[in-house]
Amino acid sequence: MDTPSVIIVGAGLRAPIGCLFWAVAVSVPVWNGYMDGALQSGARAANEVLAVLGSAGA
Ligand SMILES: Cc1cc2nc3c(=O)[nH]c(=O)nc-3n(C[C@H](O)[C@H](O)[C@H](O)COP(=O)(O)OP(=O)(O)OC[C@H]3O[C@@H](n4cnc5c(N)ncnc54)[C@H](O)[C@@H]3O)c2cc1C
Repeated sequence: MDTPSVIIVGAGLRAPIGCLFWAVAVSVPVWNGYMDGALQSGARAANEVLAVLGSAGA
């Protein structure tokens, strides 16, 4: 799979579904499929969860 295809798939993989938040190395546009990508996606998913928790408490 070439890089543009991976990026298109990754955008779909990033979208939360209800209370499910996705963190996976193949969901990022940069360092896709590498450890750096895994860390980026974990940080993004954690921030998404924090944003939802913050708005729930407001
Ligand atoms: C042989 C090899 C060498 C690599 N070398 C490098 C390298 O040198 N540098 C680099 O940057 N990257 C390297 N990578 C890539 C790197 O390992 C991955 O990008 C990174 O581990 C992906 O992290 P992740 O959290 O997205 O997924 P994963 O590390 O695959 O974690 C997914 C986890 O989910 C678990 N899981 C799956 N299904 C379920 C389920 N139904 N229920 C519960 N748990 C489940 C799996 O057991 C796994 O522990 C290498 C990969 C391989 C295979």
